[in-house]
Amino acid sequence: MNDQASFRVVLVSGAICSGKSALVELLREKHDAMVIKTKDLIIRKLPKIKIERRSLQRAGEKLDTRPTRSINHRLISEVRSEKKHKAVKAAGADQLADFLRCWPDVDVETGLSLRGDELLVKAREAMIAAVHNFNSAGLNFRAEIFITTAMIAWTYLCHSWFKREGIIGRDNQAIITVNSRGSDRRKRYSVAHELGHWHHHRGKCLVCRVEEARPQTALSPERVADGYAADLLMPWYLFKPRVRQQPKFNFAAVTALADMFDTSLTATAIRLVESEPVPSLVVCHGRSGRRWFARSPSVQDRWFPRDTLDAESYAFDILFGTAKDDTQHHKIGADAWFDRWDAEKYELTEQSIRIRASEILTLLQITDTRMLD
Ligand SMILES: [Zn+2]
Repeated sequence: MNDQASFRVVLVSGAICSGKSALVELLREKHDAMVIKTKDLIIRKLPKIKIERRSLQRAGEKLDTRPTRSINHRLISEVRSEKKHKAVKAAGADQLADFLRCWPDVDVETGLSLRGDELLVKAREAMIAAVHNFNSAGLNFRAEIFITTAMIAWTYLCHSWFKREGIIGRDNQAIITVNSRGSDRRKRYSVAHELGHWHHHRGKCLVCRVEEARPQTALSPERVADGYAADLLMPWYLFKPRVRQQPKFNFAAVTALADMFDTSLTATAIRLVESEPVPSLVVCHGRSGRRWFARSPSVQDRWFPRDTLDAESYAFDILFGTAKDDTQHHKIGADAWFDRWDAEKYELTEQSIRIRASEILTLLQITDTRMLD
């Protein structure tokens, strides 16, 4: 028999004095089992630990929740005991039921959201109906029925396309579609972004995601189009001298620059961080986590902001609590923003403002130059 094929892992778990040790001894004797104990693993990881039941349990929990800290029992218990975030109201039964009713809201077969992609769902169903009718027995006018239903499908598909922002072109002509409900600044940016696609990606087939989170890959078509829009609306030769006139690096400077260039706060904040008056990052979070971020050129890749807002951050209190926008930078431990083993050694400054009901924008200024080594 092949040794590798006969390899087995047996997990033994149970209450105290339930016979785990006796069972393990039998496995060792009769089947030559190699025994790995949780206790030994903890002691190997933490050699100075007190060999006592409660300490080992605590150490095990701690190791389980590190290094991502996606579940932080200390913070959860602080919320439970109302030591922190008392002002944040718990969701009511109706709100929770509403949330569960529409989640998940995606058809597993097609990946379409039954609410957000209603036009595409209708287009698909109309085309399925057209094919079904055409294949039905006993229909004499099935070609006409097919054509009529297929036209309904194509009409919904076209409506879905034109409802989305984007560009559609042929030869030297193109139509740019922007969301009419957006602000004038938003529309200017969308047109500039689509011109970026026209300039760089003409003749290629791609789906524009101008509304969605900024992709991290610099060469992705969306980042290229964003770069084109920023160069067009905030060219460096005009932007950098205005940055130098700003007394401080903060949201007051972002607002002043956005007013000068008639651009949105987010696009201006990204341009400001990339122009690097100080080493910094701009990070955007929604309630479900980080949406996008941008770094100054001198800030290395290892400084990657956490997926979810840390409860220690000021941004957390603004997004989930009743705190108002920060008017100035606050000092905070870098481990509140970065999930790295050495982050707790450094401090940086944070300033956060709410940009939508459920979206927050944060400027992080790297003040400790050791973070740039
Ligand atoms: Zn795009």
